[in-house]
Amino acid sequence: NRRIVLARRPQGAPVAEDFRLETAPRPIAGDGQMLLRSLWLSLDPYMRGRMDDGPSYAAPVALGAVMVGGTVCRVEDSRLDGFLPGDLVLAYSGWQDYALSDGTGVERLEPHLDRPSLALGALGMPGLTAYVGLLDIGKPQPGETVVVAAATGAVGATVVQIAKLKGARVVAIAGGAEKTAYARETLGADVAIDHHDPAFAQTLATACPKGIDVYFENVGGKVFDAVLPLLNTGARVPLCGLIATYNGAGPDNAKRLPELMRSLLVRRITLRGFIIGDHRDRIPAFQKDMAGWLASGQIIAREDVVDGLERAPAAFISLLKGGNFGKLVVAVG
Ligand code: NDP
Repeated sequence: NRRIVLARRPQGAPVAEDFRLETAPRPIAGDGQMLLRSLWLSLDPYMRGRMDDGPSYAAPVALGAVMVGGTVCRVEDSRLDGFLPGDLVLAYSGWQDYALSDGTGVERLEPHLDRPSLALGALGMPGLTAYVGLLDIGKPQPGETVVVAAATGAVGATVVQIAKLKGARVVAIAGGAEKTAYARETLGADVAIDHHDPAFAQTLATACPKGIDVYFENVGGKVFDAVLPLLNTGARVPLCGLIATYNGAGPDNAKRLPELMRSLLVRRITLRGFIIGDHRDRIPAFQKDMAGWLASGQIIAREDVVDGLERAPAAFISLLKGGNFGKLVVAVG
């Protein structure tokens, strides 16, 4: 049983030495337990927060403990009512080959899914995040301008496509020519802009001649700085993530705070943070809509698949720098 543990807390951007690969005997299920074999491991930006021990909405990973993460697993052995060997489940068993579970938080998946890993992406947590953030907080109306940050990633790509389905004009922001071309040609964004371009702020302004009605925030930093002056009166900003700052404080924001507050007031802007775990009541509606959109090809779910648990640390380090292209998942078993 291989597992990847948190070896030390990162200083700034994580490096390989912050993780450690350990080998231990395969655990044995006792009464009331089952043994899970990981097939797919999800790698997500929130894991950077769990590596720190400061206060947040969730507890940190302890030093020496297995890194947390959502997984799709096969039940290998079960001494627990309701689960049988061979069952496919969605679990939260972390960065390891095998794990014991008492069934808490484990959900059974249909046994013969074409792409079980989608339960970690478009049909799972990131998809629900896009759905709730855009529809419940962003509330895009036909013809409105919706701007999406990190627009080719797990959350962003779903936001772009749902916004198009709702009749909005979509401006996608992504890193590099390949991602911006994908946002236009495959995701259907009306315009796509590279945030590495030195003229980024000007290009964004030109792309939004009628201002911005909804800004789906995944990034923060200079991307938000370019968006703020363009937000219309009554604009909605679902605040989903701030990945540009996860590796530590960026430039001094103190001077920018009065400008932000004044903008919110004068232009009656709604800026609302949300954590997807609070929105489980939306899962049934989400699953129904998303299953339909995927089946009809109206939503395309690109995955970036990394082979082998031992590659998870490098893939995660790369995710925080834009190295992934689509939902990042590790093929474990
Ligand atoms: P992605 O698949 O989008 O991967 C992260 C992407 O962020 C990178 O590929 C990169 O894309 C972009 N990025 C990284 N650093 C920067 C930077 N400095 N400036 C601009 N872009 C950057 O990840 P997810 O879709 O899983 O997550 C997207 C966001 O949503 C994250 O902030 C995450 O924390 C948040 N989130 C929040 C949830 C909630 O409950 N509130 C739930 C799930 C996710 P590029 O190359 O295009 O720059």
